[in-house]
Amino acid sequence: MKLEIKKISVKTNDKEILKDLSLEINSGEIHAIMGPNGVGKSTLSKVIMGYPDYQIINGSIMVDNKEINNLEIDERSKLGIFLVYQNPISIDGVTTSELIKASMDSKGERQGLYKYVLELEGNSEKLKMDKSMLHRGFNVSFSGGERKKNEILQVLMLKPKFIILDELDSGLDVDSLKIVSEALNNYLLENPDTSVLIITHYTRILELIKPEFVHILKNGHIVKSGDYNLSKLIEKYGYNQSFELEGNMNNE
Ligand code: ADP
Ligand code: MG
Repeated sequence: MKLEIKKISVKTNDKEILKDLSLEINSGEIHAIMGPNGVGKSTLSKVIMGYPDYQIINGSIMVDNKEINNLEIDERSKLGIFLVYQNPISIDGVTTSELIKASMDSKGERQGLYKYVLELEGNSEKLKMDKSMLHRGFNVSFSGGERKKNEILQVLMLKPKFIILDELDSGLDVDSLKIVSEALNNYLLENPDTSVLIITHYTRILELIKPEFVHILKNGHIVKSGDYNLSKLIEKYGYNQSFELEGNMNNE
């Protein structure tokens, strides 16, 4: 999927958070957006997903050359956009298995229950999840790490074409982060047209899922773009100094 963000300005509760932000992600590309806390990274992920709390006051978001500004969350989900939440919520009264089945059914990917459960269990094994978790309330009394695994389980089952990972590493211990990254990398190998937007303020996750493009978000828009090496500069010098390297960086 090709996603183009053209000069969007976004506000929530009358506060402008993003301003003139542009970004283009082609089919099969992995991009990372980095920035310190509070710069609007999660806002960007929610505005791509279509959360009504975030209004686009200017600019447009295009998917495969069609504007999606006015599409609802579920319509964007049907197009193949999937947001892995920074803080996944829990839902009482619906099990993980039921929730994923309902999402697949609504996309027209109806499967018999037996085949579905086999596939679900197979994917949960890849994530080293206990099978009993699949049949408990969605994320109810799950740890932060287990919730993240539950998000990635949905990715493996729903096979989105555009995946946004908002702070995937938050709440995941080192071993779980490796398990989850390996599952995602395998998914991307099997589905090479999938596009990915990794949102993070740490470089740790970028060593596991390597982006080809790295962008720095500041003052509501992207102030610097580069390749994977830009994340290494950020790690070494921090966000502020990395901008000051601006002029000479591209010549390195
Ligand atoms: P990040 O993910 O980069 O840490 P966020 O996108 O969560 O940043 O938030 C960016 C800024 O917008 C913060 O100052 C935050 O307080 C503010 N913000 C985010 N969502 C809302 C909201 N619903 N209402 C008011 N302010 C918000
Ligand atoms: Mg955030």
